[in-house]
Amino acid sequence: MHVIRKIDELRRYRNAAKGKVALVPTLGYLHQGHASLIRSAKKECDIVIVSIFVNPLQFGPKEDLDKYPRDLKRDKKLCEKEGADCIFCPDESEMYPQGSSLTTINVGQITNHLCALSRPHHFNGVATVVTKLFNIVSPHYAYFGQKDLQQSVVVKRMVADLNIPTIIRVCPIVREKDGLAMSSRNVYLSSKERKIAPILYKSLQLASKMFKEGERDPATITHAVTRKISQEVTAKIGRIEYVEIVDVKSLESVHTVRNGNAIALAIFIGRTRLIDNIIF
Ligand code: AMP
Repeated sequence: MHVIRKIDELRRYRNAAKGKVALVPTLGYLHQGHASLIRSAKKECDIVIVSIFVNPLQFGPKEDLDKYPRDLKRDKKLCEKEGADCIFCPDESEMYPQGSSLTTINVGQITNHLCALSRPHHFNGVATVVTKLFNIVSPHYAYFGQKDLQQSVVVKRMVADLNIPTIIRVCPIVREKDGLAMSSRNVYLSSKERKIAPILYKSLQLASKMFKEGERDPATITHAVTRKISQEVTAKIGRIEYVEIVDVKSLESVHTVRNGNAIALAIFIGRTRLIDNIIF
């Protein structure tokens, strides 16, 4: 497996590659969620490139950029085990060299909902780094997780709007045995917080059950979900940022819940912000 830090070298590697090229963009500190993306990429493509880059542009000033977990040695092992062909792990100065005027991509309307309300610049940061990675790697396919629902919708919108010739695949959420969606940020949870964290998925399962039993009013479902979460995530322990039922293309709230809509939530447990979603 190749480990490449420089853009020029990555371009040479990519230009010499034969067949279909896949990109799996990540922030690193890889887990089985990332592994599932690499496996999907392996099935469909000949060459799988995993990018590992903690992109400063997508972190707010008070967020966890400095303490975001990093362990390249461990990440290499996982990539190797899953059969990735190459890791692209540039330094910050390689991606954002001095003199850059930080040109950014703004994906417009759909970045105004859900997570964007508390993370106003996050999706422009994501769209910008994904565009840079697409321009560096020129992948035929790129793999994202449904875990970051809004991110996948923003990337799909951007690719369509800008005629980027990369096919976007969105892979299912990989969960721990107790239902907690895997995330690099789960390491922030104390053991007490970790025990509470499965409430996110349990509450989404309640929403799914209500929908299956015929409930179509979004407010009735989101109130029930909020009530269930509040029983465990009391004001002392954390807070609910949002629970919303949205259309998966526009990310706008719906008036009637339909098959294919998503319920998405963001919850603080202690100082850790967790997100999760399911599609009805
Ligand atoms: P991250 O390193 O957190 O930026 O994630 C990189 C990619 O992996 C994103 O497309 C995520 O949506 C995806 N991902 C993260 N966690 C999971 C998970 N539990 N299941 C599936 N995909 C995931």
